[in-house]
Amino acid sequence: MSNRLNTPNDLRAFWMPFTANRQFKQEPRLFVSAKDMHYQTHDGRQVLDATAGLWCVNAGHCRPKITEAIREQAGELDYAPAFQLGHPKAFELANRLVDIAPEGMNHVLYTNSGSESVETALKVALAYHRVKGNGSRTRLIGRERGYHGVNFGGISVGGIVANRKMFGTLLTGVDHMPHTHLPGKNAFTRGEPEHGGDLATELERIVTLHDASTIAAVIVEPVAGSTGVLIPPKGYLQKLREICTKHGILLIFDEVITGFGRLGAPFAAQYFDVTPDIITTAKGLTNGVIPMGAVFVTSEIHDAFMTGPEHMIEFMHGYTYSGNPIASAAGLATLETYKEEGLFERARDIAPYWEDALHSLKDVKNVIDVRNIGLIGAIELDQIAGEPTKRAFTAFLKAYEDGLLIRTTGDTIAMSPPLIVEKHQIDEIVGKLREILTNGI
Ligand code: PLP
Repeated sequence: MSNRLNTPNDLRAFWMPFTANRQFKQEPRLFVSAKDMHYQTHDGRQVLDATAGLWCVNAGHCRPKITEAIREQAGELDYAPAFQLGHPKAFELANRLVDIAPEGMNHVLYTNSGSESVETALKVALAYHRVKGNGSRTRLIGRERGYHGVNFGGISVGGIVANRKMFGTLLTGVDHMPHTHLPGKNAFTRGEPEHGGDLATELERIVTLHDASTIAAVIVEPVAGSTGVLIPPKGYLQKLREICTKHGILLIFDEVITGFGRLGAPFAAQYFDVTPDIITTAKGLTNGVIPMGAVFVTSEIHDAFMTGPEHMIEFMHGYTYSGNPIASAAGLATLETYKEEGLFERARDIAPYWEDALHSLKDVKNVIDVRNIGLIGAIELDQIAGEPTKRAFTAFLKAYEDGLLIRTTGDTIAMSPPLIVEKHQIDEIVGKLREILTNGI
């Protein structure tokens, strides 16, 4: 197809999210179709997807079962009110979801995005303590360099300064643990780093400062993605769990990125063998195709709300599109695709090949760290003095020209290919990166 037909004649009206709008509109990068591991651009080129879209297309693009389920559902039941009414597929999907969740996480609240899942989780945590008679537990603890979406709760507990500094005082009563990124000690670690597990004890310091009776929940990404792939040091998550349990604080894992097979298990909770009280998800739940998120909670949390007169609403929260029929159909078809094709196991089995391939870039010019876990990988580049993010952004643009989609955050290249990635495609990703880093930037 010609470039002309595929390029809108005016790009000005759409204020694009998390995008350098002026740069983009001078040099637009548009995808017009996709299949399995590849996108096709508006100028007719194939681009190998090393990022599963935005960490979400875990089963690969335009998978027939998912596409068909959406098509059928749209013609059968387009929308059903989400409050005081329902439709079968939302319940069916919740049942399938709790089947693959860590033991004891038996209930699901639906949202439309990762950001909404985070807001929902924080509200559940606050309300849970209140219904249990512990209304003084109102503080929320996040972590430096955490990313929990873009809404006010999420940026308050989040720890990325650029995402916070423009937006006033945010939520009050929030504190942050230190991040766990220790490049001086852990650079070029394969999997979980040796150093930094003891940083979890910083939570004890925060508890001592505020008193446990004021703290509702701690929220962390088991593997921090958007801040540049920070993998938890050995023992860190276990220690957080211990401290939270000891003090009656709810532990929330934000698994918007790690959920649905990214580490080779359904959830990071199972991969690390640490069970939180609440898990937030989105993205891979519908293979990124239709906006949908889910928040998993334990029976203990759910049951605490099931009191009072039966005609009364137990939790004053929800969205017009919670459990939307088309999203539910997409979710069911996505889970079936993961299962039928054994994609979580596939991710686990190919992860060592991914790890070796990435670490072969260790000695390439300007590479100062390589990190990986499951089917996630990061290549951190030496920052150009006085021009943070420029080297990585240049690599992103060059990769796009060369037919490879990567993602960058700061000066780190972050990658998370669909779980259907083949070995020869991993070779292609790493080969192209080697060429770009050696000769292109
Ligand atoms: N939480 C985590 C850990 C994420 O990585 C993201 C997005 O990347 C979000 C929340 C926000 O998700 P969304 O962009 O769907 O609102």
